[in-house]
Amino acid sequence: MLETEKGHLLSPATLLAHEFEHGVDAETNYEQYKADAKTKVPSYGNENERKVITNEEQDIAKAHGEIGNDEVTRTDHGGVYVRIMYMTPKQIERYIRKARTEKLDESGLVVGTN
Ligand SMILES: [Zn+2]
Repeated sequence: MLETEKGHLLSPATLLAHEFEHGVDAETNYEQYKADAKTKVPSYGNENERKVITNEEQDIAKAHGEIGNDEVTRTDHGGVYVRIMYMTPKQIERYIRKARTEKLDESGLVVGTN
């Protein structure tokens, strides 16, 4: 699991899908993929990372309930890995949901919405 600079937790499923998208990009247009790999982009490292993080990663994290519609996972290629050995997918999902609920409660985004 990855904790991003925005404080969001990305599940192994989201991280795997991120890597899968690199494969899709390479399969779709290998020449472009190679050119993007050589194109340096501040914070993201290169253009391939910027493309996946700012596009597919957002849709995937939203679909997995890891960010809200008005949030972004991160604005860089960084993060801190959170060790989750021996956790089942359901336990990971609960962990992310609990952390997210507590974070939203702290920021007042969810409390008192009526
Ligand atoms: Zn990547």
